Amino acid sequence: MRIFDPHIHMSARTTNDYAAMYLAGVRAVVEPAFWLGQPRTNVGSFVDYFDGLIGWERFRAAQYGIRHHATIGLNPKEANDPRCREVLAVLPRYLAKDGVVAVGELGYDSMTAEEDEVFVAQLALAREFELPAMVHTPHRDKAAGTLRTLDVIRDAGVDPGMVVVDHLNETTVASVADSGCWMGFSIYPDTKMDEARMVAILREHGTERVLVNSAADWGNSDPLKTRKTGQAMLDAGFTEHDVDVVLWQNPVAFYGQSGRLHLDPVPGFDESTDASGAADASGAADASGTPAVPTAGATFEGNSVLRGARA
Ligand SMILES: [Zn+2]
Repeated sequence: MRIFDPHIHMSARTTNDYAAMYLAGVRAVVEPAFWLGQPRTNVGSFVDYFDGLIGWERFRAAQYGIRHHATIGLNPKEANDPRCREVLAVLPRYLAKDGVVAVGELGYDSMTAEEDEVFVAQLALAREFELPAMVHTPHRDKAAGTLRTLDVIRDAGVDPGMVVVDHLNETTVASVADSGCWMGFSIYPDTKMDEARMVAILREHGTERVLVNSAADWGNSDPLKTRKTGQAMLDAGFTEHDVDVVLWQNPVAFYGQSGRLHLDPVPGFDESTDASGAADASGAADASGTPAVPTAGATFEGNSVLRGARA
């Protein structure tokens, strides 16, 4: 099973997660820029974070055989903080960079006037840079927030095929399906969507324009939820082709619209996802699989993921 996780915050995760993801079949990820769990206090905080996403994190992922891409944007939560507004002026510098495959995460948190302004401004940037837009839906008042989100996207004149609307559930999927936007689903351990509900949605709506992600971050989340969803699909009678469409072909088609995906295998890593990608039904890595081993001597600006000499 080859897997592209189109929404995961790897900078909040450990190298153990990268190794387990590789064993589960993950070969590519998109890491959307998001908030830190506490407020940033100035624009420099964003600049260092964005540089980390497209530099160190990309290097770190490759050490475990995984291709890393980023989306760059001012997240909805911090759109309300005047100290963060200045970041809008530095976004164009990042949106021009290789490895940045979309503008995001955009959208609403509390649906304020400030969020409206920042959302519209960044949709305009997506059009200007001919990049996809990665839009999240609010966790509170989700149904109303999703409808308003779709109105803003339509009014902005953005091609719906260039937009993914994420964190959907049973109450929001139909409106997004009708809009022509891509449908994103985040599979969490104990809130919102889980594997069984995802399978039921796929049965009803099919696999077209559907993206499944773990949205794993610093909170309660699981970077192997993509693999577990693929397994749940197989158990429910979906074919291996269906799983490949949802977990690989769809994210490649969507983010490939940026023209900036790098999907060739990392040198030194096995091309096949079957031999080393074996996992049991729980999604845990198969102990007989070949673990991803960071390349000795590889550094990014002089820094390595290794600690001390390898015995
Ligand atoms: Zn996220």
